[in-house]
Amino acid sequence: MSAGHDMKSILVIYTGGTVGMVRDKVSGALVPLDFSQVSKHVPELDHAGIRVEAVSFDTPIDSSDVAPKHWRSIASTVMECMDRFDGFVVLHGTDTMAYSASALSFMLEGLRKPVIFTGSQLPIGIPRTDGRENLLSALMLAAHTTDGEPTVQEVAVYFGNHLFRGNRTHKESAQSLNALISPNHPSLVEAGVEFQINHPSLWRPPVAASSGPKLHVGMRTEVAWVPLFPGMPMDWLRRALDWEDLRGLVLATFGSGNAPTSQLLKDTLREAGDRGVTMINVTQCGHGGVHPELYATSHMLAGCGVIPGRDMTTEAALTKLMHVLAQTDDPGRIRELMTANLRGELTPHRVAQTQGHGPAGAAGLEGA
Ligand code: ASP
Repeated sequence: MSAGHDMKSILVIYTGGTVGMVRDKVSGALVPLDFSQVSKHVPELDHAGIRVEAVSFDTPIDSSDVAPKHWRSIASTVMECMDRFDGFVVLHGTDTMAYSASALSFMLEGLRKPVIFTGSQLPIGIPRTDGRENLLSALMLAAHTTDGEPTVQEVAVYFGNHLFRGNRTHKESAQSLNALISPNHPSLVEAGVEFQINHPSLWRPPVAASSGPKLHVGMRTEVAWVPLFPGMPMDWLRRALDWEDLRGLVLATFGSGNAPTSQLLKDTLREAGDRGVTMINVTQCGHGGVHPELYATSHMLAGCGVIPGRDMTTEAALTKLMHVLAQTDDPGRIRELMTANLRGELTPHRVAQTQGHGPAGAAGLEGA
């Protein structure tokens, strides 16, 4: 059926996760159901005014098992079905949803239709489940239009009454029903009595990309993610970075991007950089980002060739690195792409006009 009819057509891509799980009578553990059983628990689907079709992973999985091959499968399904549907909802476990939504945002360039991830903290078959509301609202947002155009034209996550940009999300809580947050970018939609659309926060692909969506399935996995901590044995870091296949490193630093002033750390990073390892600096903090202008302790990292990741989440930085390393081997181009705002994953750097902040007295602060 073609897109554009009054009744919107949405494809649900069911991958697994708690949303579609039931408790196994023998082991007591949660195990995945297939989508026909999931949808039986949402009778409201018949009255939502949306035509829903579903495809499912052959074996629905717990999202802890998600790997780049699953991202490829979701992205390829979206591309193959692009002309037949008005939007897509991906039912996915919450544990790695932020990674998958980030990865998909890089794999799908120039999207003009919504790809909305959702799931739940409680299985859909139990009385207090958050799964029914999440699924129904995600479907309605995938079908939502503004002035005849899809309102959402990006990879997003619907959770806890909010629609977020997918590559800005992070799973913050294993307990709260608001498990996913967007620490550094406002929500795209707040679902109250009505959907309150925050139009300025929505992503629109650059005009030059109007040739239609492009699929990039390449993901290099020769990457590492290393958080710094006080007392960290630098010798261990040196050995870890000695892995000869290593192509990229996400370094999770303190505060606004700071690291110990250790000569061994400096030498280790320099050597890795000289070997062609792309290194990117993200903060360990839950909110905010890396401001390399502020403290002398972050100047050292820049001097070793570490790229400031600005306010990217770790999930976005890691999947962006996997994506960019698969696009090119040219170090200059890698740096350019890692620094650029490809899919709204970072807040571009703007030099503030006002007085500087912090001990270094620098004036370069990120714009909002
Ligand atoms: N372990 C589950 C998963 O990520 C948790 C959830 O869905 O909330 O698949």
